[in-house]
Amino acid sequence: MIAGGSVSGLLAAREISNRGLTVGVFEEDSEIGFPEKCDGLVSVKGVADLQVPLDSNVVQNSVRRALLYSPGGLCLEVNATKQKVIVMNRKEFDRTVADQASKAGAIVRTGSRVQKREIRGDGVIYQGKFGRAEGSLAIDARGYSSLVSVRRRGALQGGKYVLRGSWFDRDAVELYFDNDATPSFFKWVIPINEELAKVGAAGDGINAFKLLDKFVQEKRAQVISKVAGPIVTSGPLDRFGIGREIIVGEAAGQTKPTTGGGIYSAGLGGLLAGRAVVNCLSTGELSSLREYEVGWRRVFGREFRSSLVLRNILGKLDNRRLELIFKAALDSGLGEEIAEKGDFDFHLGSLLRLLGLKRVTRLLGSLALPDLTSILREKAKIA
Ligand SMILES: Cc1cc2nc3c(=O)[nH]c(=O)nc-3n(C[C@H](O)[C@H](O)[C@H](O)COP(=O)(O)OP(=O)(O)OC[C@H]3O[C@@H](n4cnc5c(N)ncnc54)[C@H](O)[C@@H]3O)c2cc1C
Repeated sequence: MIAGGSVSGLLAAREISNRGLTVGVFEEDSEIGFPEKCDGLVSVKGVADLQVPLDSNVVQNSVRRALLYSPGGLCLEVNATKQKVIVMNRKEFDRTVADQASKAGAIVRTGSRVQKREIRGDGVIYQGKFGRAEGSLAIDARGYSSLVSVRRRGALQGGKYVLRGSWFDRDAVELYFDNDATPSFFKWVIPINEELAKVGAAGDGINAFKLLDKFVQEKRAQVISKVAGPIVTSGPLDRFGIGREIIVGEAAGQTKPTTGGGIYSAGLGGLLAGRAVVNCLSTGELSSLREYEVGWRRVFGREFRSSLVLRNILGKLDNRRLELIFKAALDSGLGEEIAEKGDFDFHLGSLLRLLGLKRVTRLLGSLALPDLTSILREKAKIA
């Protein structure tokens, strides 16, 4: 049984039902994919790994450039063509995965909030207005509402608008860094087409809507829709479950600490969890569930550890230092290097390239960040 019918829960269900096993997904919203969970920026490779087809109703746009702006307006341009990044209609994407799962035999129940979970030695029980359901194993894919029950902090206040406007380029994602306005994070613009863009902001303790309203005024844009949502940047839980229940996706902190992106990493969590459940049910060994956690950490463990370090560093930088880092990056041609060797899903390489710049190391060194030592050790290991 799975609580939560978004990308991670639905991919777990698809994997389980693909092997001919019975699985039920309980989703509290009355429609899969609505309200839309995110802005849908993802790599083509990531979606391919999740084995979800990219139909024309899912893909909205392709990104060719990323424009990173410093607080003072310097622009670091990265050519993103090699990284093959697309903008998806997230609602349609979730529906596609739900279709895959349902066609394989999964029972997806919307409007079904799991109010009580009982994890026993011999089975699991869910209860809600839908009644009572029993199963042998449970997957918690309830996203942030689950994570926040175990970890109070670790999400930034975020909001996203769809805007109609004319200031942006159809092929360029824009990121605006300003640690006064969006402490520890940034504002972003993700174009859907020539006229529409998904525009969001997140930061420690900010009122994202207030900030976005100001942006709307500055850009003379028209608001089409507004959604608030926490951006999870705190990294993975120490354990992805115990006994007969495993935790997947955002509920397990499987979103990138650098950007909060989670379609790929949370989705892969769901996929691996589903496969581990299949193994567990065929061997009868609960210990088979551990394969999921080991597998996920093999792919993302080191990357997420380093990303957490970067997150902590970004949180401690003032705008003056941010500006100097941008200047050093521009002077050294870092944008071209990232365009050539960067990876949209794994940021460690780009981070190490940035730290390879002497001016940046010196600047951060003056902050005496304890985390920096560990990341420089990582860099030395790779070099
Ligand atoms: C503003 C914003 C923009 C983002 N943009 C991007 C992006 O561009 N690219 C990217 O990769 N990621 C992005 N993300 C992150 C991405 O949305 C998440 O990482 C991803 O959706 C996590 O999937 P999940 O299945 O683990 O959890 P969620 O998508 O959070 O889904 C959890 C599901 O559980 C359901 N649920 C909760 N409680 C219960 C209950 N008790 N009973 C039944 N159901 C329940 C919820 O209704 C929900 O459907 C963004 C996030 C935000 C907030």
